[in-house]
Amino acid sequence: MIKAQRGTKDIFGEESFLWQHILSNAQTVFQNAGFGEIKTPIFEATELFARGVGDSTDIVNKEMYTFSIGGADKSASSITLRPENTAGVVRAYIEHNISRQSPPQKFWYFGPMFRYERPQAGRQRQFNQVGVEMFGVEKASADAEVILSAVEFLKSLGLDNLSVELNSLGCKKCKNDYRENIKKVLAPYIADMCDDCKMRYEKNPLRILDCKNEDCQKILEKDEIKEIILKDYICEDCKTHFDELIEYLDELNIKYSINKLLVRGLDYYNRTVFEIKSEKLGSQSAVCGGGRYDGLVEMLGGPSTPAIGFAMGVERLCALIDNLEAPKLDYFIVSNNTKEAIKLASKLRNENKKVEFDYQSRKFAKQLEKASKSAKYAIILGEDEIEKGFYSVKNLENGEQKTISNFDDLI
Ligand code: ATP
Ligand code: MG
Repeated sequence: MIKAQRGTKDIFGEESFLWQHILSNAQTVFQNAGFGEIKTPIFEATELFARGVGDSTDIVNKEMYTFSIGGADKSASSITLRPENTAGVVRAYIEHNISRQSPPQKFWYFGPMFRYERPQAGRQRQFNQVGVEMFGVEKASADAEVILSAVEFLKSLGLDNLSVELNSLGCKKCKNDYRENIKKVLAPYIADMCDDCKMRYEKNPLRILDCKNEDCQKILEKDEIKEIILKDYICEDCKTHFDELIEYLDELNIKYSINKLLVRGLDYYNRTVFEIKSEKLGSQSAVCGGGRYDGLVEMLGGPSTPAIGFAMGVERLCALIDNLEAPKLDYFIVSNNTKEAIKLASKLRNENKKVEFDYQSRKFAKQLEKASKSAKYAIILGEDEIEKGFYSVKNLENGEQKTISNFDDLI
């Protein structure tokens, strides 16, 4: 038997109603907030992610599904299944000259992402993300709008008690000073840290701060290192930006905590970064990760454009919400005349009713049993009803039965 690939999942039955619910809430909440949907391709040039996600990240180093296609020159056409969607949206933003429209330009998306990871609860190889990207506004009002959208979307799903963690990474200049200080204080310990951290030390030392390795964690707990990590290092402008964001969040009654260890996995973030977590999810606790990436559009060849966004893991959202029950049919047609039954079903469906019938002319008792399990009403279409042109309708909740003489009354 051929089975689904490790780290992938089939979605059907009750779970599919949950997915539809999540998607339709995303559509409502984000579109109410002025985000338009964007669908970008599932595969892109490998180079887009190498540059756009950053070559010091776990994603680019270990997790990408990369294929070589084409003729003899395989390197010329290396493509990758998207591991995240910001790079793809930025590529589209540049390619379609969207920056020429008046800012802000706001997008939301929903779709599958692919990362070669060790599958476990809350971690798959094909998973789905719903997210937003907002371009063109440097002010903290944009950061507030994006965080508000995430919180409102979660609230619409009944998830209103999750914790928002915030940090500011600063701008290029303050990030560089910080990086140098971190490097200096870690220098005597780096030999004892994991191989990933050794690589990060060279390429992106801030990433060491969110290393999950226990030995590395222990080193980061040392007083002299903690002191440097927790120091307020961001410049005046970055501090003003962060303070303004906090004023907005207070004004909006959004609860947050500041976590100086929050650096986020992607290379391109600056200033605001945030995560939304739930203890219910255990070790895979983050449902949402986001941040500002003011340099990315320019770095990928577009005009200098401030931007901020977030992505949420749909499977992790599902884990936080109970499955929804399948909505009941409006009518189940009980009949031994399948042709009349299918005609009536079609007429009712055109009136936007949910309708099923029996396809095999089984005994009425069997059909009624099926009806009472799945529908609000049974419409009984026996020989008499068909001949004289009326409907016998049974309320399956209270057992009441009525005779209805024409189709309009039935509706
Ligand atoms: P993690 O630290 O859990 O690996 P990440 O920093 O790699 O997360 P992001 O790239 O920020 O995650 O993606 C945003 C969200 O997408 C995460 O908060 C999580 O909910 C979800 N996500 C990321 N990777 C996976 C995965 N392999 N399976 C399921 N959901 C995922
Ligand atoms: Mg990850």
